[in-house]
Amino acid sequence: MSRILNLPKSVVNRIAAGEVVERPASIVKELLENALDAAATRIDVTLEQGGVSLVRVSDDGSGIEPSDLPLAVAPHATSKLRTAEDLECIATFGFRGEALASIAEVSTLLIRSRQAKSEGASLCVDGGRLGEVVPEGCGMGTTIEVRQIFGNVPARRSFLRTPQTEWNHAADAFVRTALANPKVAFSLTHNGKLIHDLAAVSSFRERIGGLFGRQMAERLIAIESSDEEVQCNGLVGRPEDDQASNRLQYLTVVGRPFRDRSVIHAVQEAYRGLLLTGRHPIVFLNFQIPPDSVDVNVHPAKTEVRFRNPQRIYRLVVSSLRSTFLETDMGTSMQSPTAWGSSQTRPHVGSNTVDKSLFVSTNEMPLKTHVPDSHSSTMQVHSSSALSSTLNDSEGHVLPTCLENTHQRAVQMQNRYLVVEQGDGIEVIDQHALHERVLFERLKLSVDSGQLEVQSLLVPEQVDLGPKELELISEHASTLEKAGMRIQPFGGSTVLVSSKPVLAGTTSSEEIIREVIDRLAVASSGAETRMLVEEVLHSLACRSAIKAGDQLSQEEVDALIRDRHLVDDAHHCPHGRPTSLLLSKQELDKQFRRI
Ligand code: ADP
Ligand code: MG
Repeated sequence: MSRILNLPKSVVNRIAAGEVVERPASIVKELLENALDAAATRIDVTLEQGGVSLVRVSDDGSGIEPSDLPLAVAPHATSKLRTAEDLECIATFGFRGEALASIAEVSTLLIRSRQAKSEGASLCVDGGRLGEVVPEGCGMGTTIEVRQIFGNVPARRSFLRTPQTEWNHAADAFVRTALANPKVAFSLTHNGKLIHDLAAVSSFRERIGGLFGRQMAERLIAIESSDEEVQCNGLVGRPEDDQASNRLQYLTVVGRPFRDRSVIHAVQEAYRGLLLTGRHPIVFLNFQIPPDSVDVNVHPAKTEVRFRNPQRIYRLVVSSLRSTFLETDMGTSMQSPTAWGSSQTRPHVGSNTVDKSLFVSTNEMPLKTHVPDSHSSTMQVHSSSALSSTLNDSEGHVLPTCLENTHQRAVQMQNRYLVVEQGDGIEVIDQHALHERVLFERLKLSVDSGQLEVQSLLVPEQVDLGPKELELISEHASTLEKAGMRIQPFGGSTVLVSSKPVLAGTTSSEEIIREVIDRLAVASSGAETRMLVEEVLHSLACRSAIKAGDQLSQEEVDALIRDRHLVDDAHHCPHGRPTSLLLSKQELDKQFRRI
């Protein structure tokens, strides 16, 4: 019979370590939080092999007294919490006093620290075994070096992923913390290469610019709102800057990065009707909330929080985003969700024009039958030029005069749908979805046959990126080249785009590059080149296609309809959305009670 025993302390610590230290990224996060708690104004992070071989965090904060060094790595030792009541209103990041102890338990850890008016000292802890405190000359502040993560816990070590994956997680932890603290200078170096070098700045927007590129940051829309309890401020993307992934969605609460499904859901709700299905807005939101209204301690790694009143946060997010959208002139794709909803629920808007054009014979049909739309004046020029390259192309194949006989004439409605007689019914086509699909198929055909037409830009277009994005783009430069986009480094984190496919028309390189980054960032690391090239082609098609809200000439409408044959499966655009809906005669007869 085995007896019940207390576990040895080191075993307890090692179990606790599993909660805090999941991977190098969690170490980066804990060390950054400690440095911030020590009021650092500059924090330098150095990683080797994604953090698997080394995580070093140096700060210029308040430092630790030599005699306190052993306490810093002792479990449940903290300088930040005195009583149980303090737990209710804690303003610092750490407070459980277990991060350093847990990290030291599963690695080789070295602390070097000096306070303003005392001598410096260092202490090494190897797999939980404490060394001696040794006097050491060092600058003010603290440096903590963690090596051989899980070196003494092979079972956990085997759970670490490739250095590339660990690096992505660690860089994400860095970015989240840097975003939440613009007034602190940060740097991140990986395998000897300086990846981020962020000066202390006074605004959130500047910090976003430092991390992801100035051009993107400048276009963001500022959000600010509050109720009696919660304050929410931040910056969000214009609908046309939508993303293929949710990579650019960052939340903080009282300066702490966190993730939260419900807040993201609220954001999606606010953007409803403004984005296509499967697209994600850019969002950077910060919440200020009294400490007793949020529990930041529900998750071992503190990446999730629990709000006392989540519905309140939800409502605040939806209403502040929506009211800002209504006040902001955001061009064609920007219609308030209510306006969007009402045009669906009131089918009589413009119904005269619609009815006439549907029942007049094609020859007599007026060329422009669009419903007057206040948004059409801001139609995007580049989109229609992308379409006219489609048009010119197809005119080579079919003489315009015989078009009317061989093709059904389509009518554009609401500046977003094309309506055409089809079989024994009516087909309603989504102009953006169809054009995107047509462009993609054309691009793919020409790449596959080695006949992609590329336009060299007389004046190369500059695109200002974040360092991490630059890395990604440089890594995939040859993929981009295969898709007709030639990219060269231009100092700092700027690149020059010197060519793009003719089919991209005048769509801005920046728009295309951002879309590419977004798609490649989520593409699996082992993806084949062909798949990656397709991702770039999807990006080109998605950004260059005409949009909902673009008014088309009859020639453009005809060209688009003619090009439908290019799309094998004409019922889905690359995102998998339907490109058209069919209303059968039978259905219509039923509605009009003819049967
Ligand atoms: P916690 O942060 O929860 O207090 P940690 O294990 O992360 O627990 O750190 C233990 C203690 O070590 C802290 O309370 C703090 O006094 C000290 N410490 C850790 N890192 C630093 C640092 N970078 N600068 C100054 N003091 C630090
Ligand atoms: Mg801590």
